[in-house]
Amino acid sequence: LMQLAVPLNFIGFVYREIRQAVTDIEQMFGLLDMKQEVTDAPGAAPLAISDGTVRFEDVHFAYDANRQILKGVSFEVPAGKTVAIVGPSGAGKSTISRLLFRFYDVQQGRVTVDGQDVREVTQESLRAAIGMVPQDTVLFNDTIAYNIRYGRNDATKEEVVYAAEQAQIADFIERLPEGFDSMVGERGLKLSGGEKQRVAIARTILKAPPLLILDEATSALDTQTEQSIQAALDVVSRGRTTIVIAHRLSTVINADQIIVLRDGTIAERGTHAELIAENGLYASMWMRQREATEAEERLRLAREAE
Ligand code: ADP
Ligand code: MG
Repeated sequence: LMQLAVPLNFIGFVYREIRQAVTDIEQMFGLLDMKQEVTDAPGAAPLAISDGTVRFEDVHFAYDANRQILKGVSFEVPAGKTVAIVGPSGAGKSTISRLLFRFYDVQQGRVTVDGQDVREVTQESLRAAIGMVPQDTVLFNDTIAYNIRYGRNDATKEEVVYAAEQAQIADFIERLPEGFDSMVGERGLKLSGGEKQRVAIARTILKAPPLLILDEATSALDTQTEQSIQAALDVVSRGRTTIVIAHRLSTVINADQIIVLRDGTIAERGTHAELIAENGLYASMWMRQREATEAEERLRLAREAE
């Protein structure tokens, strides 16, 4: 009996650790209150990635039957390209990333990756193919190295450090008393929003997924932090099929295509230059944000002059 007690105890420990990790991921996506409605289709095959093309075809979706969130959304993210999704808060931008992950099923239309309907592949393989840098990163109560290595468990120390360098967080980590072995999370060092986001970027760089979703929430960050995060995001998205959910339009100028979502439909699409020339919703959002940024800048200069 004693011989059994140890392994069982150990299994209990591992189980709790896994539970915690799952909880953290659910928290990361704000899914804790969500029912697990989506299951693998019988005989679902693993996703076979060839070049990583993502398509939304006439997607209709509602969380509640009485309120339609997406009303026939179609777009393609060609392999290795970046599509930015902008639009007012509540327009359904984050919903698009949840549908690609298949946290929910569409009610009409389909979402495909390299021609495979996400409902017909295993969820595990689908989620393994997608890297996500969320708005609010929840760190595990463990070392900073563990938090980065979570992207790929078999990564070497050198690879972890390299990913941190790419994410522009290595200098910060090396200045901590215990460096990469410093404990972070609720029971360790509290990192700022920008630092946590760069840890998430390092994790994603290490995971090197073919598909990437960036749900930017840089609005709470100062301009300098935002710029260094932007540089890190540029590194991670290079050559990957990327969907950027953008709050600051300054970050979408270089996207291959910008989609403007409004009231559940695509109101406008095109490159930055095309949409400015169109002089519609995007152009007015752009003008408004530029005025706000300039006002902020004037305020900062005035404060510095005092
Ligand atoms: P965005 O990212 O563009 O701000 P979301 O895609 O997060 O918007 O949400 C679109 C709409 O769906 C919002 O009105 C939001 O309140 C609603 N919504 C989001 N998640 C849920 C949910 N789990 N249940 C019900 N409604 C939701
Ligand atoms: Mg959102």
